[in-house]
Amino acid sequence: MILVSPNTSQLIALFTFCTLGASAQSVATLANEPAVKEAFAIIQRNEPEMLREQQRICEIAAPPFQESVRAAELKRLFEQLGLSGVRIDKAGNVIGTRPGTNPRPNLVFAAHLDTVFPPGTDVHVTRTGDLMKGPGIGDDCRGLVVMVGVIRALNEAKINTQGTITFVADVGEEGLGDLRGMKELFGETLKGQIDAFISIDGLGASITNIGVGSYRYKVTFKGPGGHSYGSFGMANPIQAMGRAIAKIDQFEVPETPKTTFNVGRVGGGTSVNAIPFEAWMEVDMRSSDVKELDRLDQKFKAVINESVAEENKRWNNRGAVSASAELVGLRPAGQTAESSKIVQTALGVNQALGLTARLSEGSTDSNVPMNQGIPAITIGGGGSGSGAHSLNETFDGQDSWKGTQRALLLAISMAR
Ligand SMILES: [Zn+2]
Repeated sequence: MILVSPNTSQLIALFTFCTLGASAQSVATLANEPAVKEAFAIIQRNEPEMLREQQRICEIAAPPFQESVRAAELKRLFEQLGLSGVRIDKAGNVIGTRPGTNPRPNLVFAAHLDTVFPPGTDVHVTRTGDLMKGPGIGDDCRGLVVMVGVIRALNEAKINTQGTITFVADVGEEGLGDLRGMKELFGETLKGQIDAFISIDGLGASITNIGVGSYRYKVTFKGPGGHSYGSFGMANPIQAMGRAIAKIDQFEVPETPKTTFNVGRVGGGTSVNAIPFEAWMEVDMRSSDVKELDRLDQKFKAVINESVAEENKRWNNRGAVSASAELVGLRPAGQTAESSKIVQTALGVNQALGLTARLSEGSTDSNVPMNQGIPAITIGGGGSGSGAHSLNETFDGQDSWKGTQRALLLAISMAR
């Protein structure tokens, strides 16, 4: 249910859905409500200003683990927009609430602050008409500004929802960040208080309902080491690692759900005439399916142990080798079923606005709630572009207001 109090009349419209989310038909009905139509018009009117805002936010650098300056700006905007309880949590996530009639259901709307670019990167954005170019301009400055645009439109159209919407500008979405913002949000800050989650990341009208998970390890093999001639007969960490790599190479993985593995970097040893005392390798394993990923993870750990045992047996345990695997990255896998209310509502929203999108898979903030069984999707923020994660990233703002309208309609449909 939402309460609408348009200034043009005393009309109070009540929309009641029996569960979280809405059918395509109810979404279409909702899209035709006067207050929602007014919010749509406001979004279209505000878009030129939002594009300038997108450029401005993006020119505040936000390297991995150094999002605090951009975070402070989002905090200022959340406060200015009248959100309540605006705060920054332990991880650095900026959180602000737009209370509904009831505290639950609580829908979280998020976009990430961080970029992949190191400190010192030139973050200046150039603009020709609606086309902007600069690192992070789409990923995820667009998501941040869509969030701002949705809050503004809800305020200006005086739309009150029955459920609560919590807005989050989060940290640590990109590679090295390892989803640390989401892990903190779902594990500590708002643990047990989130009923549905939508992140705005990427462009166009995309809907991501499958979260590809990954495990990343650095495995270190160690032994005493010695002279290649004088100490011959000693177990060899590099040769033990070679055994492991050969076994990993033989892994059979399903095509569907797509499951992958890769030994990406190796190192070790000190000299051609020395039995090394150390060798290391970095391994990446991915799957959209939690069980497949865990199965692969177990096989991986088993072959490390087997390889060490084989190497030690081969050399009668002389200068025995050992290995340890350090988890250096963990993005949990998960899915939100196509039949779920949140996915069906998002598809209904696209349909109501005449936008088409296939469901897709990705690795985003939604991985964390998906893994916990909390309904979650990631949606594009409208517009189009190219070159994400490169210095030549572009964002084309032509008709990009459609992305904000979509996010707004989805928010209202979900928050009832
Ligand atoms: Zn992103």
